[in-house]
Amino acid sequence: MSGTAKLNMVVAGGGIGGLSAALGLANKGCKVTVLEQAPALGEIGAGIQIGPNAFHAMDYLGVGPAGREKAVYIDKLVMMDGVSGDLIAEMPVDEPFRQRFGNPYAVIHRADLHGVLLDACRAHANITLVTSQRVVAYENTASGAVVRTESGETFAGDGVIGCDGVRSKVREQLTGGDQLRLSGHVAYRAVLPIELMPEDLRWNAATLWAGPKCHMVHYPLQGWKTFNLVATFQTDVSNVGTNEPGTRDEILGRFGDVVPRARKLLEKPSEWRRWVLGDREPIGNWTDGRVTLLGDAAHPTHQYFAQGACMALEDSVCLSDMIARFEGDLPTAFRAYQEERIPRAYRVVLSSRELGRVYHATGVERRVRNAWLGSKTPEDFYNSLQWLYGGTGLSAAKAA
Ligand SMILES: Cc1cc2nc3c(=O)[nH]c(=O)nc-3n(C[C@H](O)[C@H](O)[C@H](O)COP(=O)(O)OP(=O)(O)OC[C@H]3O[C@@H](n4cnc5c(N)ncnc54)[C@H](O)[C@@H]3O)c2cc1C
Repeated sequence: MSGTAKLNMVVAGGGIGGLSAALGLANKGCKVTVLEQAPALGEIGAGIQIGPNAFHAMDYLGVGPAGREKAVYIDKLVMMDGVSGDLIAEMPVDEPFRQRFGNPYAVIHRADLHGVLLDACRAHANITLVTSQRVVAYENTASGAVVRTESGETFAGDGVIGCDGVRSKVREQLTGGDQLRLSGHVAYRAVLPIELMPEDLRWNAATLWAGPKCHMVHYPLQGWKTFNLVATFQTDVSNVGTNEPGTRDEILGRFGDVVPRARKLLEKPSEWRRWVLGDREPIGNWTDGRVTLLGDAAHPTHQYFAQGACMALEDSVCLSDMIARFEGDLPTAFRAYQEERIPRAYRVVLSSRELGRVYHATGVERRVRNAWLGSKTPEDFYNSLQWLYGGTGLSAAKAA
């Protein structure tokens, strides 16, 4: 019996990170218990972009074909100048892109991506899913690690993976409580039935309209039945929460300088939800003995690179690979995992901050952006993204 086949693992959080971690560990022979705070496992109604690196990871986890079935394959990523209405740049993600990176760039409904992982977890004999259990604390013991939940119950295992998102309790204890870094950026989200999408904007693309201190993104979802809409703006409002109702008046007011062609889209949704956005400063350690972090709990990021969930999938590949490679020696495997993941995941976090500035540029910065991005060829874009889309989550040594 291999070292991993004897391990019992506890995963805190049943989001994309927690379920993919459970799957990766279970595929290596571990018995996994996932503890989710919500009464039911699920995802919010919104879309997500997934790069080729996410498909590499899904293939490793055994859910690539199921994920591919649910995805919409767009032709290109488009950046429009929201002030002039002109095209700034576009990057084709057609056959040459797929050939180069070995997988497509796609968009998918979150519930579909989460559902693919959930189906695979439910079908796996090694995985137990437990809902309505909010993890509040962990402890390293002589032989393993244990978590305590709000209801007072304890769940013991050989190791614990904190996948409990941007406001992670596991991270709070592990770091001594580092601060969420609120950027003053707020995202409004809606999913629009295709009939409500203006015909002249029904593009098979992930389209970004860059405006002054704001931007909006739209792309088709769910077999072209709906369009995903995300509108983000900078503000000094500090009392915005997460997943709360937003108002049409607020969002229209924030996009007053954006051309009517794009702005009229914001009038369409009957319901908006809004989120305050934030990340955390990079840290050099995710591990405390037999406890480690994964996904947003480890490296919460702004969404501007569209890579947060992709990174969580990659983390799961790397973590399960390291646990197998070190034959179940968890402290060693966790350290090897974080050494591998920290530079890559935080490159996304830091780059995303910069991209926020690029998307929201005003004045001369806007002109610089348009000239810089407008001069790039598809090959230029592909070369600059090789580090990201060419990655798998497996270590460089292993992938070579
Ligand atoms: C507007 C927006 C757009 C985005 N677009 C993209 C994109 O296009 N592409 C992309 O790759 N990423 C995108 N992201 C990022 C992506 O959504 C996240 O990085 C990803 O969902 C993180 O997954 P996770 O499982 O680590 O965390 P979460 O999705 O937050 O999941 C955490 C889970 O843990 C549960 N939980 C929390 N606390 C506890 C606890 N104490 N005990 C037990 N359970 C707990 C939660 O209920 C939840 O189910 C976007 C993010 C935003 C905000």
